[in-house]
Amino acid sequence: MQVTALAGGVGGARFLRGLLAHLRTSADPRRRDAQVTVVSNTADDTTLHGLRICPDLDSVMYTLGGGIDEVRGWGRSDESYGVAGELAAYGEEPSWFTLGDKDVATHLVRTRMLAEGRTLSEVTARLCERWRPGVRLLPMSDDVVETHVDLADPDDPGGTRRVHFQEWWVRLHAAVPAVRIEAVGAAAARPAPGVLEALAGADVVLLPPSNPVVSIGTILQVPGVREALAGTGAPVVGVSPVIAGAPVRGMADACLAAIGVPTTAAAVAGLYDDFLDGWLIAEGDEPPVRAGLQVRRRPLLMSDPGATAALAGAALDLAVELDRKDRAA
Ligand code: GDP
Ligand code: CA
Repeated sequence: MQVTALAGGVGGARFLRGLLAHLRTSADPRRRDAQVTVVSNTADDTTLHGLRICPDLDSVMYTLGGGIDEVRGWGRSDESYGVAGELAAYGEEPSWFTLGDKDVATHLVRTRMLAEGRTLSEVTARLCERWRPGVRLLPMSDDVVETHVDLADPDDPGGTRRVHFQEWWVRLHAAVPAVRIEAVGAAAARPAPGVLEALAGADVVLLPPSNPVVSIGTILQVPGVREALAGTGAPVVGVSPVIAGAPVRGMADACLAAIGVPTTAAAVAGLYDDFLDGWLIAEGDEPPVRAGLQVRRRPLLMSDPGATAALAGAALDLAVELDRKDRAA
């Protein structure tokens, strides 16, 4: 069985770890031997202190490779901050984005390889030789795509000020309302090698509960990806990142507000109307109503490894059920 998933950072990575745990302990040999391909959001990427940083790729790589800081959910475990302290002593900006020492090594390897003309796909494969994440990890594109955010400018009524997504998210905690969110470069980006093939050739496509705007939403803006999802023969099943009208962690509500979409499980499903076959929502949430969309209520909290594996299993179960219906029809 070929499983392809689209993923952002922390939410995507946690779900994928549960998916692998579910697959590897499954009694069903098709699941036990399943191969997983992950298409990672790269629109959070940025360059700081001359280093190319890919937060979502690294969150998935470190989480699945056993190097993640479990408490924060991002960055390396047992991290130290010698480099960050020295940069601060020089007065180097930005000071609001802290790079750990171990993490810096990852960015040094990546930056050096990119400077030598290697693609982000090649860099990612090289880094994964160490981490062995147990999935094929693909960037959504080898072309640079960066999410920028227009904020209302308090000094200029009606005017806006543009910042990189990371500044809005990390420095401002998305507390300043976004007027517009744009994945700069997305329209001209080409899907990375293997991305469209992984969607077309999948037996199951999963959408983990990643941010629908700045994680899944940006992957969907890479030309060809939405079409591949709509055209794949595989059932596409997603997990709502929203429970009871709020994101489980983080500020996805601020992203949804910027695109005029309510923070509900049903409204998020609506963003995927052209390709979504199955949707998992929490007990008590209103289901989206659309002919052909199958909705199930399941425990959606990835509170511990067991619950996360069960959630991933439930998403796969729904996909298999829909696949059978497809075949019967
Ligand atoms: P990021 O790139 O690090 O922001 O991570 P993602 O985009 O992959 O995931 C962020 C989303 O994960 C947020 O919108 C959260 O609502 C969602 N999320 C986090 N933890 C959970 C959980 O336990 N259950 C569900 N259903 N969603 C979660
Ligand atoms: Ca992210």
